[in-house]
Amino acid sequence: MAAVQRLLSSAWLLHLLFLAALAAWIVLLDAPFPRPAIALLEAHSFEFLAIAGGMVAVLALLYRRANLALQAAAISLAISGIGVAPSPAHGVTAAAILLPINLLILTLLDDRGLLSRAGLWRCAALALQALLVLGLFRYQPDWLEALAATTFLPLGLADWSSLPEQGLLLAALAAASLLLWALLDPTPAHVGAFSALLTTTLGLELALARGGELVLPTLLGAVALFLLLVAVLQEAHRMAFRDGLTGLPNRRAMDSLTQGLSGSYAIAMTDVDHFKSFNDTHGHEVGDQVLRRVAASIGRVGAGGHPFRYGGEEFAVVFPGRTAEQVVEALETVRETIASTPFRLRGSDRPADDRHGSRKRGIKRGRQQTQITISIGVADSSTATDADAVVQAADQALYRAKKGGRNRLAQ
Ligand code: GH3
Ligand code: MG
Ligand code: MG
Repeated sequence: MAAVQRLLSSAWLLHLLFLAALAAWIVLLDAPFPRPAIALLEAHSFEFLAIAGGMVAVLALLYRRANLALQAAAISLAISGIGVAPSPAHGVTAAAILLPINLLILTLLDDRGLLSRAGLWRCAALALQALLVLGLFRYQPDWLEALAATTFLPLGLADWSSLPEQGLLLAALAAASLLLWALLDPTPAHVGAFSALLTTTLGLELALARGGELVLPTLLGAVALFLLLVAVLQEAHRMAFRDGLTGLPNRRAMDSLTQGLSGSYAIAMTDVDHFKSFNDTHGHEVGDQVLRRVAASIGRVGAGGHPFRYGGEEFAVVFPGRTAEQVVEALETVRETIASTPFRLRGSDRPADDRHGSRKRGIKRGRQQTQITISIGVADSSTATDADAVVQAADQALYRAKKGGRNRLAQ
């Protein structure tokens, strides 16, 4: 159950599944589509993309993901542009150049909300691009043709593709950047932008390779929009089940894990020692840094433990299939690691100018160190009727650990 949950909350999984399904579909592409479906898509590509893009954008805005909403709009505009261009080649040239730039920039920029100044500027930039492209379609189609005919890549590098070389290069650069970003920081938005760019670019490629028919780019555009929708839903799932400060799963996630537990399991409750006075002395912000560090250490607990931020400065670890005895060693390792790693603070008499400050204080002077410790209480299901009772027993053990002098574990 926990493994399934972890798999489902991984940002990559669903995208990889859909991309694999798409690759399989491309391999089987020669299977003809039913004629009425082709006719319907050819005739109503614009409406189809507008409705699909609009729905994804509205949902993204509902979850305050303005950049994802704008990416959905950019994909809809780019693909529907092919249908209103003087020829498919004109539409594909404009889309292949503008879409990678838009998807990349909208992934890299912070999300400030649609109605913020930044959000409105981004809307205006998209609208301006649409107007510019429509103007080119109408008054300067030759300009787009010349652009598409320009070759500058070494021979053989772009021969396999029917996309204009600028578009191909931009798509490759944007896809490489997004892939790197998605690997380093695999948030749903990063992974979603990468897979959506890949899918849309494939749609543009197939549009020209298959004689300019609109069916494939429309379908692949819809798949790209669907992948953005997956990203929106994954973000929503994160918001519901993850703690924003530490990145650990939250108490709601813990409840859904413990509700499904049966047989033998152990639960540990941990609490940062004297954290109120730490906050009072060093400030809430430093307190937050400490919580992140403690969470990172607890997140690395062994013995198959699932860590959660239970609330405030309390963390819980659930060990399915283990007794309290079997998890003590892993918990003691976490406690000792936290207690033996000093937390460095900047001195309060630190000069405002950083360069001047580092000269004045040398490398280490001016940096205070402080020690953080946690107390742990652990209990298991052997004497309890349900998970709530195990949590209660672990809480009582934690109380004993505090009473016993803190920075210790009690069972
Ligand atoms: P004890 O050793 O008995 O646990 O003492 P304590 O001071 O840690 O216990 P207490 O429960 O009285 O204090 C918990 C404090 O944790 C109170 C609150 O200021 C702080 N706290 C709770 N959540 C957060 C948070 O998200 N960020 C920060 N910085 N502090 C928090
Ligand atoms: Mg507490
Ligand atoms: Mg405490």
